[in-house]
Amino acid sequence: MTDKFGKVGVIAKGSRNPKSKMSGVLQNLSEYEIVIYKKENTLSLLKEISTTQDNKELFDDLYCTASAQAAAEVYLQLIFEKNDYESFYILLHDYLQYLKKVDDKYIIIFWRFLLRVASYLGFSMEFRRCVICSEDNINKMHGISFHKNGFICKECSKKKPVNENYSCSKKTAKLLANLRTIGNQLEEVEVTNFMIKEINAIFKNYFQYQFHKKFHLRSLEIF
Ligand SMILES: [Zn+2]
Repeated sequence: MTDKFGKVGVIAKGSRNPKSKMSGVLQNLSEYEIVIYKKENTLSLLKEISTTQDNKELFDDLYCTASAQAAAEVYLQLIFEKNDYESFYILLHDYLQYLKKVDDKYIIIFWRFLLRVASYLGFSMEFRRCVICSEDNINKMHGISFHKNGFICKECSKKKPVNENYSCSKKTAKLLANLRTIGNQLEEVEVTNFMIKEINAIFKNYFQYQFHKKFHLRSLEIF
């Protein structure tokens, strides 16, 4: 992922040769300054590379690594508009830097990242009130309306076809309601295995609904 050209596929010729200057430089999730011979419709050629940030702290904890890899997995499945390359690059960079500062509950930071990705792509999610009647009591929520991009309350959900909505538990609804500003309450937030499964499923289904194609988050299967 680059800030100027979006996603670029490159071949690093000779990088496996121990004598190559590139040998051992290429690491997953690191950041680089690169010189490439840009080719259209095929892999570009990597000519020079220097590490600007190796992000090796991301590998200190298995769950941290998985949460970081999941962001890369998401980007691999997205198509970016030219004007958005830089903002998506910065979003990913900031996410990885933030993960390094957290000791636990990396998955919550990942969900916040996904929420931002969705809003950059133009389908942000409303988690403060019901998207239909504006009810803002979180205890009255039924779940998520993919059709209307956010919470739907119990009353409104009764008037809609069942397959338009995805029901979720109260605890999950509460967490989602706080997700945008959750950075400063991480310590107090409770997240159970059940909530992890539920929220991962919500995001996966939501992205699938938006893109009309399969969307996967395999990196998160360790949770
Ligand atoms: Zn409602």
